[in-house]
Amino acid sequence: MSDIKQPIQLFDPDSSTYTYLLFDETTHEGLIIDPVDHQIERDLGFILRYRIKLLWTIETHVHADHITSAGQLAEHAGAHTVVPAGCGITSAAVQLKDGEVVRFGGEQLRAMHTPGHTRGSTSYLWRNHVFTGDTLLINSCGRTDFQSGSASALYDSLTRVLFALPDDTIVWPAHDYQGRSHTTIDAEKSGNARIAGKTLAEFVAIMDALKLPPPQHIDEAVAANLSSGLRHDVGGEPVPITPAAGYAGDIAPQLAYTWWKSGNAVLVDVRTDAEREWVGFIPDAVALAWKQWPGMALNPVFENGLRLVVPPGKKVLMLCRSGLRSIAAAKRATELGMEAYNVIEGFEGDPDEHGQRGRKGGWRLRGLPWRQG
Ligand code: FE
Repeated sequence: MSDIKQPIQLFDPDSSTYTYLLFDETTHEGLIIDPVDHQIERDLGFILRYRIKLLWTIETHVHADHITSAGQLAEHAGAHTVVPAGCGITSAAVQLKDGEVVRFGGEQLRAMHTPGHTRGSTSYLWRNHVFTGDTLLINSCGRTDFQSGSASALYDSLTRVLFALPDDTIVWPAHDYQGRSHTTIDAEKSGNARIAGKTLAEFVAIMDALKLPPPQHIDEAVAANLSSGLRHDVGGEPVPITPAAGYAGDIAPQLAYTWWKSGNAVLVDVRTDAEREWVGFIPDAVALAWKQWPGMALNPVFENGLRLVVPPGKKVLMLCRSGLRSIAAAKRATELGMEAYNVIEGFEGDPDEHGQRGRKGGWRLRGLPWRQG
């Protein structure tokens, strides 16, 4: 069993969002709750520092004030995306229902459906800690005036679900705007300005009277969060080559195949051995896993390997699972002086908001040659 006593609490000043890292100290298996997209390098840094094997990304709800990095963490760290059932985040790997658990090492995290801020809002219980998202904040609670919010549902979630937890349960909210880090069930039950001692009618009146302005970027954030933070362009056939910043461009898989087979380019598959084994591989492509964390030190194994397999004057085509790691790899190859391209949407295709993969590319979906691992 692990000795970890407290979650690692991280703060995003732009949105006042708290992100949490939890891991089992024996197996180092862990999870992250409510990660924020522009903090991904910080978060990967902590994951690396604590040697966390990130199994899960967890959302408390569809956020309106920031974009999640869940989809990117799945790509970079191999995590599976977990969301509350009923949030409509169809891109996620796991839809968690009330009472269901995710396990990491000898630990588990239990979902408690706590609707009100949004219909799908869910809190998570780990030992005597509860992560309440925007359902319960310190001396406050989430708003209920948009995104299928309901003040009466929130009243039930607070009084019947969260306040039924033991008094000494430690509460970790998704936000605080005044520098406070956590609270307890007891403190909120007895002192929370909005809910403590209030009847349903009083609570609803308080919530109705808030008249808050809508969050900035709400439309963009909600749309992106419905696909785990991965943004998508409209469908249709991919453009053969699109110029890109930091590397030669994004290339459609069909054109990449032509260049590769005509001997003008080297195709480098930057996925891990395990991914190729499970999902499938491209015969004769060079296998060279991209394992560098963004923003971290160089990756000599990858770079030396690349210099060996790409002769001077040849182009290099980077391919990963859905087209994220391959961009990082193409940028690095460019820094090494190569003409490097990213194969659009990688081997499997990038899933859209309906879970459909390969709107623009995707090696396998475009019918290009591959084999089962
Ligand atoms: Fe929220």
